[in-house]
Amino acid sequence: MPVCLPAGALAPGATIGIVGGGQLGRMSAMAAARLGYRCLILSDEPDCPASHVALGCIVGDYDNPDTLRAFAEAVDVITFEFENVSARGLDLLAALRPVRPGAAVLRISQDRVAEKSFLNQAGAATAPWAEVNDAAGLEAALARIGLPAILKTTRLGYDGKGQALVRCPAEAHAALLELSPKPLILEGFVDFACEISVIVARGLDGGATAFDAVENRHRDHILDLTLAPAPIDPEIAARARGLALRVADALDLVGLLAVEMFVTAQGEVVVNEIAPRPHNSGHWTIDACPASQFELHIRAVAGLKLPTAGRHSDAVMKNLVGPAQTALWPAIVATDGLIGHLYGKTEARPGRKMGHVTRLFPRGGLPGAFGIRAALGPLLPEADLPDQGIEPEGGVEPG
Ligand code: AMP
Repeated sequence: MPVCLPAGALAPGATIGIVGGGQLGRMSAMAAARLGYRCLILSDEPDCPASHVALGCIVGDYDNPDTLRAFAEAVDVITFEFENVSARGLDLLAALRPVRPGAAVLRISQDRVAEKSFLNQAGAATAPWAEVNDAAGLEAALARIGLPAILKTTRLGYDGKGQALVRCPAEAHAALLELSPKPLILEGFVDFACEISVIVARGLDGGATAFDAVENRHRDHILDLTLAPAPIDPEIAARARGLALRVADALDLVGLLAVEMFVTAQGEVVVNEIAPRPHNSGHWTIDACPASQFELHIRAVAGLKLPTAGRHSDAVMKNLVGPAQTALWPAIVATDGLIGHLYGKTEARPGRKMGHVTRLFPRGGLPGAFGIRAALGPLLPEADLPDQGIEPEGGVEPG
């Protein structure tokens, strides 16, 4: 009996519109091409990384109605590689084509207050939080939440931008001056043992699948290393995965969702934030999984069946950030076992994500800190990996 595509699925040859032209769009378009789809990119920058691997790129402002209309009319379905499109722009796109994930999901993830309210309603623990709009609001929030805390802009923050750690009331008021008049949120500081994330894909039919939790280590507020799977108690990892699936269901998501979480020394799992798109902490899945986060994203958006989010290998992913790490590229591609990815950006500015490197290990064989450092070869001095907590018994430091 012939097998048909599910009702409503995009046929091969259809065009997927991706809003945003960065590396997430680039790797999504590469996955789409493998499945026989074309991608049209909408970007505010010419020569963006996604444009190099797509059918075409419309360059224009994300809020310009004429640009959005021309983009929507040229595609069959629309998705995103970043979530900060204006409400008006989203409405315009959604009136013309299916938008996956939907505008409601994007609105929740665009605003830390909407996000935290939603998460708490969905039964997910977050840091204690309060909205802050002025000095009186800050006083009230400090009285309720205490110190230390983090004052963040509610919108458009990423990689530690638009936020300040505050340890005393004077620091809190200085941060208020620096960050206002933008709407702000005060969050209690979570004294976490490690940071993890879970990536969930959820299809048009509501079927969902999640990768195992991974551990994320940051440097200068930017993701540096991802260890897959997270070397944590399996019960905590299972809880984190269940939580991420629950949040995706509560959102009625169609697409991909990254759920970033803190794990405390007591084993509590506290959600930090969600991103309804491919995520830097899922880049390892390109090389370690039969279907990567990008393929699952495209499959969900295209209405295809989702395969189980499983891995054939364990992996460590290291970001290549800024000029110094990008300069290691010749050594990386000259080293057996390192799988390099460059995003096609011409200028390696400090703090800019230029590419990443993945190293695979047999499934179940993720080594401890010393083994990972050694396996990263030319990146060895760059691998800032505290030994604590991840060295298996009997681990030996290479001489
Ligand atoms: P965010 O922009 O919310 O992803 O925060 C960037 C980084 O700041 C996180 O990955 C954490 O390392 C740290 N951070 C953010 N919020 C908190 C918090 N409430 N408590 C402790 N650390 C935090």
